[in-house]
Amino acid sequence: MSGYRAVEATADGDFTLVEREFEPPGAGQVRIAVEACGVCHSDVAGIMNMTGSRPSGVPVVPGHEVIGRIDALGDGVSGWRVGQRVGLGYLGGHCGACAMCQRGDFVYCTDQPVLGDSQQGGYAEYLTARTSGLVAVPDDMPAAELAPLMCAGLTVHHALVSSVARAGDLVAVQGIGGLGHLGIQYARAMGFRVAAIARGRDKEELALQLGAHHYIDSTASDQALQELGGARVVLATASSGASMSPLIGGLAVRGQLVVVGVAQDPIEVSTVPLIFGGRAIVGSLTGTPRDNEDNVGFAHAHNIRPMVETVPLEQAGEAYARMMSGDARFRMVLDVGR
Ligand SMILES: [Zn+2]
Ligand SMILES: [Zn+2]
Repeated sequence: MSGYRAVEATADGDFTLVEREFEPPGAGQVRIAVEACGVCHSDVAGIMNMTGSRPSGVPVVPGHEVIGRIDALGDGVSGWRVGQRVGLGYLGGHCGACAMCQRGDFVYCTDQPVLGDSQQGGYAEYLTARTSGLVAVPDDMPAAELAPLMCAGLTVHHALVSSVARAGDLVAVQGIGGLGHLGIQYARAMGFRVAAIARGRDKEELALQLGAHHYIDSTASDQALQELGGARVVLATASSGASMSPLIGGLAVRGQLVVVGVAQDPIEVSTVPLIFGGRAIVGSLTGTPRDNEDNVGFAHAHNIRPMVETVPLEQAGEAYARMMSGDARFRMVLDVGR
């Protein structure tokens, strides 16, 4: 084989299937033969070059929900073997040397590549990656169902386990999309009382099937949550700050609004519910590879499965457009295995 297929995307929305030359993995890296890659809303940041990680006009290979098998080891790699099944998420592996790494806070490493942004992502048959970003994953889960766990699943799992909620508490999941449909399943399996919040009644039946105990139409969510005693945690997954603002009124005393949906517009908040009740608004950014192994183990044990629509690699542009339109039910996944 002379090269491998990859999909390059540009900021003006062009997706092009190209052939790229193989590169050997560098020191401390492995090369991965990709089985599947999920299509995440955060792919937008890399495609649009929002962080300015490359010269304008230069395309990127998107994708940060990668499942594959190690195909080659770079110099100095130990603890990983060729043929081993691994995953990669949004963060491409911490450096181990910066101030945040010295504090053990690897998620906020300041010298860490981002897949599909500052390094090549998984809309491709192969990619190379730092071993510090690798997630060991089981052999007995389908790649298309594992891939969305690498970012969407980790995001909601880590946000919930790091929150103040404990088993038995009321936890609300706002938004029933790529993140929210997983958030409901995780929250249920963690032993919370689960309220699902979405606009209208269309998703009520699905929310209950996914494990929600209560369904709340977002037009009156604060009142409805207070009638249930107030939420210990609201997991906000919708990409709209305005939609999150009223949720603060649904929090119990010392409750948290945990924000995982990236929005362009601000959350507006009155100081009163924050001060008189010790409520908090916190953000949560994915997790470490070790957190991700915990996440996969939990999902595996509790049979948590994303609902996916699978398309071949060459239809990446269509999959991305369908994700952006909000019509995907609920995660688009590229089937890359060759
Ligand atoms: Zn993502
Ligand atoms: Zn670092």
